[in-house]
Amino acid sequence: MFRCPYCEFSGKRSEVHNHLAESHADTLGTRVDEFTGHTFFIVTCPVCGASYEQVTKKARRDPSFVSEYEHEIRLVVFDLLLYHLQGEHNLPSPPSPLPMGEG
Ligand SMILES: [Zn+2]
Ligand SMILES: [Zn+2]
Repeated sequence: MFRCPYCEFSGKRSEVHNHLAESHADTLGTRVDEFTGHTFFIVTCPVCGASYEQVTKKARRDPSFVSEYEHEIRLVVFDLLLYHLQGEHNLPSPPSPLPMGEG
């Protein structure tokens, strides 16, 4: 069972993956390379602060840069984050005991 690093959501890897792309896209940063004009999407690990960049061959100001494409990119960068969490932070972690009573 994977756990979302940003909230309480947990599920299969693919479920967490989609959840990240849909709910936590605001955690991604972007930058535009001055020389090539390519847009880089930056994902930062919420646990250790490591960051990964994924270049896109399209610039955001490109009219063909539709939101659908942006969703694809989110999936790519969050895939990088999930691999990082698996490799560096032992995801998926064993299920933590649920607190008894209200929660
Ligand atoms: Zn979440
Ligand atoms: Zn990390």
